[in-house]
Amino acid sequence: MRKIPIPAGHRETFWKRNCVAVGLAAGFLEPLEASAIVLVELSAKIIAEQMPACREVMDVIASRFNATTEYRWGRIIDFLKLHYAVTKRRDTAFWRDNVDPATMPDRLKDLLALWRYQSPWFHDEFDRIEEVFPAASYQYVLYGMGFRTEVEVDALADDAQLAERAMRENAAQTERLRAGLPRHRELIGKIVEYGLQPV
Ligand SMILES: Cc1cc2nc3c(=O)[nH]c(=O)nc-3n(C[C@H](O)[C@H](O)[C@H](O)COP(=O)(O)OP(=O)(O)OC[C@H]3O[C@@H](n4cnc5c(N)ncnc54)[C@H](O)[C@@H]3O)c2cc1C
Repeated sequence: MRKIPIPAGHRETFWKRNCVAVGLAAGFLEPLEASAIVLVELSAKIIAEQMPACREVMDVIASRFNATTEYRWGRIIDFLKLHYAVTKRRDTAFWRDNVDPATMPDRLKDLLALWRYQSPWFHDEFDRIEEVFPAASYQYVLYGMGFRTEVEVDALADDAQLAERAMRENAAQTERLRAGLPRHRELIGKIVEYGLQPV
């Protein structure tokens, strides 16, 4: 087996003077959550859309880019660390090291304390445009890994009724739309009849 060491981390400053670090030049955390390419795309988008027209404003754009990029790396670290915060594994040094509360970001600790009583939601600061991991991503990991949120059942009675109604409407709408769809063979027939190219 070949061991590939990964020095995990990211730069403190991504845009300095006329040089911008993107991709592996900016940092690397880990391969499992596959967040590298989206960060490359988001960085490229800022550069393309906000490239300063002159040197006078470059530092303004640079500082904005640095703040946004630092925020994004921070949220990715929170999300990665969440997997270790809720795992029950302690069988190897790897898991023991990574579940150590001393290695958890303060922001994630606060959120985990909060989520014992209310589920991750948009107001948990997941309010940025193009948030890499929104509240729903946290819900999947937390509840998929057995985390429990204690909720007052009575306080949620109205929400439960609303949710049931939304699910009933959703099922009815699905049936309506499905009924309007052609059968597969009919669709192929139409494509052949009109000489259309399947997309
Ligand atoms: C197996 C694997 C799976 C991955 N899966 C995902 C995924 O699903 N989602 C995701 O987001 N990320 C994934 N990643 C991570 C992602 O691919 C990388 O983070 C990303 O490609 C980094 O882009 P980059 O442009 O910074 O670096 P690179 O893609 O490494 O590009 C650097 C380029 O510089 C060239 N180069 C190096 N040295 C020199 C030199 N001296 N002179 C000239 N050229 C040079 C290299 O040949 C290379 O073409 C994966 C990575 C691997 C290895």
